[in-house]
Amino acid sequence: MPELPEVEALAGFLREHCAGQRIVRAEVAALSALKTFDPPVDALVGETVGDVRRTGKYLAFSAGEAWLVIHLARGGWLQWREKVPPARARPGKGPLALRVGLSSGAGFDVTEQGTEKRLALWVVRDPSEVEGVARLGPDPLQEGFTAQVLAGVLLASTGNIKTVLTNQSALAGVGNAYSDEALHAARLSPYKTASKLTDEEIEQLHRALVTILSDAVDRSVGLAASGLKSEKKTGMAVHGRAGLPCPVCGDTIREVSFSTRSLQYCPTCQTGGRPLADRRMSRLLK
Ligand SMILES: [Zn+2]
Repeated sequence: MPELPEVEALAGFLREHCAGQRIVRAEVAALSALKTFDPPVDALVGETVGDVRRTGKYLAFSAGEAWLVIHLARGGWLQWREKVPPARARPGKGPLALRVGLSSGAGFDVTEQGTEKRLALWVVRDPSEVEGVARLGPDPLQEGFTAQVLAGVLLASTGNIKTVLTNQSALAGVGNAYSDEALHAARLSPYKTASKLTDEEIEQLHRALVTILSDAVDRSVGLAASGLKSEKKTGMAVHGRAGLPCPVCGDTIREVSFSTRSLQYCPTCQTGGRPLADRRMSRLLK
């Protein structure tokens, strides 16, 4: 799933390649992904792309009086095409959700792999009309995101720190992968109660979030859309690395599995050497 750094890099790439271009085609193939009907998608056609920006994990394109907002969700991706295929995108079972063609002949396809159809598209007059955008919490890479701002988010939350970090209404842009990475760098257990962190732990977490996200943005910016997924993987210390040694202490990275996702952590760095209970594992052992 693309998170803040990948979406930021995508927005930069698209701004460079789309701004100033006229939209000549906008074809929705996954009708269920389109969440709005007014303005219609056709309102984009003939308009010139102004800005392309990231808001949380959303991509937003301005075109005339309208905005096209895209949430790639878990299996979604954007594929840049130097030459958009002439065939009109038609509703069907394939991964294609949206095809956009520009006056230069280039354009992009928005696709979604897998069965969990959660990719979403909106055409609105302002990005804040999208409910998820309006509810976004503070963005860790925005100016003014201090340890005090993070403390306010944590103290107002119930639940464990892993859940709070990935809740978009609490904090914008962080998902499963970068929350694993930030918690590892801050040496915090994912199960720690968010509202009970000490000032020192909040400082550590703040530093970890900002460092990890800005480093990932630095590595990703300038890469073409096609290179972003593999770049995300190579920068990880614990996420997706269960069974491998922790790059900091050498302990074996463990994981806790849930129904559709899992988290990874290092016991020595984060939980005082004690592995966390994994409900799926304990069920298997019974
Ligand atoms: Zn470690």
